[in-house]
This record gives sequence, structure tokens and C-alpha cells, in this order.
Amino acid sequence: MFIELDGWRGKLRFSSCHLIPGHPKCGRLHGHTYAVSVRLEGELENEFLIDFFELKEIVKKICDELDHRVLIAEKDPRLKIRDEEDGYSIVVGKKRYLFPKEDVALLPINSVASEYLSRYIAERIASQLSGMKNLKRLHVRVDEGMGQGAGCTLEV
Ligand SMILES: [Zn+2]
Repeated sequence: MFIELDGWRGKLRFSSCHLIPGHPKCGRLHGHTYAVSVRLEGELENEFLIDFFELKEIVKKICDELDHRVLIAEKDPRLKIRDEEDGYSIVVGKKRYLFPKEDVALLPINSVASEYLSRYIAERIASQLSGMKNLKRLHVRVDEGMGQGAGCTLEV
């Protein structure tokens, strides 16, 4: 059995900006509206797999942390990130950005591509479901705009 949350219709969205170092177009700072869709598989416990409200709250909280922020992958070897007094200085090749810290979501991942974002979000969700023995598998898809997205599957 499974349940699903549609990120677009369920308002599990965030709008953020990022850049993909070295990419001819995406190497420039730009933004997306992202939607996070979730499919959870498992066995029924009483009449539910999990309360929809509970799952939505978990996903919503993660979306809120990323919303209206500059997404920076702190493990991206192509970036030089310096924690300075007036913000994070990000050097990418010959370019240097300075972002106020409150505007940045510094993420423990290697890239801010949707593939990595989906895995990051899936791991965050899975860590909050670990006590629920009836759940088996979690699929998370992160759409970067409508009609294109990347996903990740984890055993929970
Ligand atoms: Zn992009």
C-alpha cells in the first residue's frame, strides 16, 4: 500500500536560487520554484500508513527552511566558501558572490542539482520516520519547475 503527496497541488513548494558551477547557462545565479512530491510505501497500521497531516508537516518544514534562500552546497569542490563577518563569500572560478548569512541555506551536499536536493530532502524525511516500523520505502521527487524533476528512493 502507498500514500502520495503532490508537491504542486499540496503546496509543498519553495522558491530559491542557485547556480551550477561550470554549466554554460546554469552557472549564472538563477531561481526556480521547486515542488516536493512524496510517495510512502508500507503496511497499514490501524487504518493509516501515516497521517497525511503529519507527513505534510514534516515536508512543509523542510520546504520552509529552503524557501526564499540562496542554496549553497557546502561540499561542492568547485566552490570556495568563506564564512566572513558580513556574510558568506562564495568564489566560483573568477566570480565572487557575497550573500548575507540569513539569505543562505548552506546544505551538506555536493551539488545543488535536483538529484542531490531530492536525496537531501529524502534523508531528512526518512530520519523523522525512523520509529515507524510499518513504513518500508520512501520516494521523493523534486521538480525544478513544472514538468521536470529528479527523484530518490530510500528504504526506511
Ligand atoms: Zn537551476
